[in-house]
Amino acid sequence: MASPADISLKLPLPYTDSIEIRNFIGGKWYAPSSNSYFDNYSPSTGKVISQIPDSNAADVDLAVQAATDAFPRWSALSTQQRAAHIHKLADLIEENLETMAQFETMDQGKTLTMSRNVDIARTATNFRYYANYVLGNPTEPSSVSTYIKPFNSAEGLPISAQALSYTNRSPVGVAGLISPWNLPLYLLSWKIAPCIAAGNTCVCKPSEFTSITAMMLTRLVKQAGIPDGVINIVFGLGSSVGNSLVTHPKVPLISFTGGTITGKKIAAAAAPMFKHISLELGGKNPALIFDDANLDECIPTTVRGSFQNQGEICLCSSRIYVQRSIYDEFVARFKDYIRNNVIVGDPTDQNSFYGALVSKPHFEKVQSVVQKAQSEGAHVEFCVDLSVSTHIKSIGKNGSLQVSGLEDGYFMAPTVITDVDQSSTVVQEEIFGPVVVILPFDTEQEAIHLANDVVYGLAATVWSLDQAKLRRVSSQIVAGTVWCNCWMVRNLDMPFGGFKASGVGTEGGGYSIDFFTKKQTVCLG
Ligand code: NAD
Repeated sequence: MASPADISLKLPLPYTDSIEIRNFIGGKWYAPSSNSYFDNYSPSTGKVISQIPDSNAADVDLAVQAATDAFPRWSALSTQQRAAHIHKLADLIEENLETMAQFETMDQGKTLTMSRNVDIARTATNFRYYANYVLGNPTEPSSVSTYIKPFNSAEGLPISAQALSYTNRSPVGVAGLISPWNLPLYLLSWKIAPCIAAGNTCVCKPSEFTSITAMMLTRLVKQAGIPDGVINIVFGLGSSVGNSLVTHPKVPLISFTGGTITGKKIAAAAAPMFKHISLELGGKNPALIFDDANLDECIPTTVRGSFQNQGEICLCSSRIYVQRSIYDEFVARFKDYIRNNVIVGDPTDQNSFYGALVSKPHFEKVQSVVQKAQSEGAHVEFCVDLSVSTHIKSIGKNGSLQVSGLEDGYFMAPTVITDVDQSSTVVQEEIFGPVVVILPFDTEQEAIHLANDVVYGLAATVWSLDQAKLRRVSSQIVAGTVWCNCWMVRNLDMPFGGFKASGVGTEGGGYSIDFFTKKQTVCLG
C-alpha cells in the first residue's frame, strides 16, 4: 500500500485550476494501491481536468478497516457531540460554497447557478438537516427506551404473564455509500449525513465522472475535526471499487443511487450476503396535462421540469401526455417557450439555462437514442432559435450544438419528439438528457394507463385546476412522488423513493435514519 500523500488543507484557486485526487482513508490521503489513474474531462471544454485514482479491492479493504476501527468511538459519542461535528462541516461547506460550486460546474457541466443554489447549498443543508434531526430524535445506544409497553398475554404463556417490551435502536456499523454523477456532492451528502448522524461510519464511492467535489469534501471533513475513519472515500470505477464495497463482508449496509441496470447488479451481489440495501434508481417520469390546466404556469414549469440540469435529474419529466383538445396549442407554445428561454451554453454564464452533458459516452448515447427515433419515423425537433442563441455556431443532425469558444464541449439541443408510439424505445427507456416526447390522450383513465405503462415508477406531475381530479389521478399513478401543479418542491421530512424498477427503500427524514439504524426488541419478563 502506498504511503499517505501530503495534501494541503487549503482549497485550490477557482475554476481553471485542477485538483489532485487521492483516496481518503482513516483521515489520510493515499495514492491507489495500483498506482494508476485515468483521465477525467470537463464536459464543457472536452479537456482533461484531473486524474482519478484507479482504485481496487485492496484500497476498499483498507478503507473498510479504517471505518470499522472508527465505529466504536464514533457510535459512543453522544448525539450532541456528533451533531456538533456535522454542523461544523456544514459551516465549512458554506464558507467554501463558491469554490466548490465552480469545481462542480467544471466537472459535471451543469450551470454555475445550479451548482451554487442547488448542489452545494443543498449539500450544506443535508448535513444540517440530519444534525438537527438526530438532536430531536436521538439514536445512541444509551437512549434506548423508545417504546415501553406493559404486556400481559405472551404467546405460549398463561394469560397472567407480565412483561415490559422496549426497542433498542442503534447504529449498524460500516455503510457503503455509492452515488451517481448528476448531482454529485448533493446526493453523496444525502447519504453521508443520515449515516454518520445515526452513529455509523462509512466508505463512499462517488461517480468516476464527478469525483472532484468529493475530494474537496475530504479536506473539509479533516478541517471540521470529524474523527479519522468516520468518513472514508475511495475513488475509481464501479466495476472494481463499487463491486468490492458491495461484496465486502464487513459492510452490512449499502445505500446506492444510480442506474437501474447497476441497481440490479448490486441487488444480486448483496442478496446472498443478506445485506440491507437501499436502491434509488432510474425514472421515466410522466407529466399529465389536462385540458383545464393553467398553461401559463404549466408551460414554464414543465420546460424547467424537463430540461433543468440538461435533463440529467432523475425526477425530470421526459414523457409529456396532453389532453387532445389542447394538444396542438400545448406543443406549439411549449416549443416556442423553449426557443426563447432555454439558452444552452457556457455553464459559467448566468444566462445559460443549461450547460454540457456529463461525458462523451453519455453525449453519444443521448444522440443515438434521438437518431433511432428519427429512423423510426418520429418527428424530432431541436428547439434552438439561432437568432436568439447567437452564440450557437451550428446544430448537428442528432442535436449536438457547437457553442462559440467551447467547440469541444458536449452540448445538446433541447429536443422535442412527437408522432411517436407509446411502445417505442424513446418513450419506454430512460434517456437522462434534454429530450422529451409529447403524446396525446383522450380520457383520464387513458392518461393514468399511459403514465403507468413503463417499468419505472419514480415521479410524476399532474396539471389540472380540478382538485378532486388531482387527488383521484395522483392516487392511481404508481410513482414515489407526484407533483400537482408544481415540480421539484421538496420537504426533506417526506418519504422519497421509487416503485417498480425505480428502486427499493425510502430516503428522507426519519426514513433514512431508519435505514441506518438497527432495531432490537427487548422483552423484560
Ligand atoms: P450508474 O449506475 O452508472 O453509476 C452510479 C454509481 O454506481 C457510480 O458511482 C458507479 O461507479 C457505481 N457502479 C457502477 N457499477 C457498479 C457495480 N457493479 N457495483 C457497485 N457500484 C457500481 O449511474 P450513473 O450513470 O452514475 O447515474 C445516472 C442514473 O442515476 C440514472 O439512471 C438516474 O435516473 C439515476 N439517479 C437516480 C436517482 C434517484 O434518486 N432515484 C437520483 C439521481 C440519479
